Amino acid sequence: MSTLPDAPTPAIRFDDVHKRFGENVVLDDLNFQVATGDRVTLIGPSGSGKTTILRLVMTLEEADGGYIYIDGEPLTHVERGGRRVELKEKHRNEVRKRIGMVFQQFNLFPNMTVMENLIEAPVHVLGLSKRDATAKARELLDKVGLADKEDAHPLQLSGGQQQRVAIARALAMDPEILLLDEVTSALDPEIVGEVLGVLRDVAATTDITMLIVTHEMQFARDVSNRVLMFDHGSIVEEADPETMFTAPKEQRTRDFLSAVL
Ligand code: ADP
Repeated sequence: MSTLPDAPTPAIRFDDVHKRFGENVVLDDLNFQVATGDRVTLIGPSGSGKTTILRLVMTLEEADGGYIYIDGEPLTHVERGGRRVELKEKHRNEVRKRIGMVFQQFNLFPNMTVMENLIEAPVHVLGLSKRDATAKARELLDKVGLADKEDAHPLQLSGGQQQRVAIARALAMDPEILLLDEVTSALDPEIVGEVLGVLRDVAATTDITMLIVTHEMQFARDVSNRVLMFDHGSIVEEADPETMFTAPKEQRTRDFLSAVL
């Protein structure tokens, strides 16, 4: 028996994950891990598979091959006797509860108030009382600077405010893992800063594991401790942000960064 301590179980693990849409192979046997508490940013050209990775973790897409584990638990299927066995919806939902996602297009429920958006899942999925969920939602609205907006409807708010509500809504589920998918891409440049400010605060004041897709390289540099450069569904280079943004080794990374920086 080994005397070495076991390596900690990663928050997210992809083992030989294969994903295609029709003929288009988007992820070709991808392997990577995100350690608990890590802040990992995925960068790379449009179409390289970054969003697909987040959608797979969120079970909005399903892998065609390979395995995804969350805290060591298989997400959607396991291999038994050489065969793929789908896990029950109940298991999937249990694992998914630990994961929050913020989308480019906010995805708030337009017919609900801000408060209703925030308490919907904590009440119906986590089983919190309405009173506890409301108290927690108020704390979170305060944290994202929208304490006075709980009765507003999403469409009465600016894009930046809607995105801050979406961040608060994700945090209301107390996620262990937060997935951020180009959360500022749909915003006017002058309000990008307010949303990134909220996320910097979340990163500084929580230990939530984060997997981030962004074109905001300064944000990636400030918040992440690891950056993965993708191209055509494979990891081209992996480094700490300082190295990635000042001394990348691969020509493809240099070409990409010189186009976006
Ligand atoms: P990125 O986030 O790096 O821009 P994506 O993961 O969004 O890349 O997309 C990777 C590839 O998968 C692209 O070629 C895209 O057109 C394709 N793709 C993504 N989602 C779908 C889908 N639902 N149906 C068909 N093709 C898709």
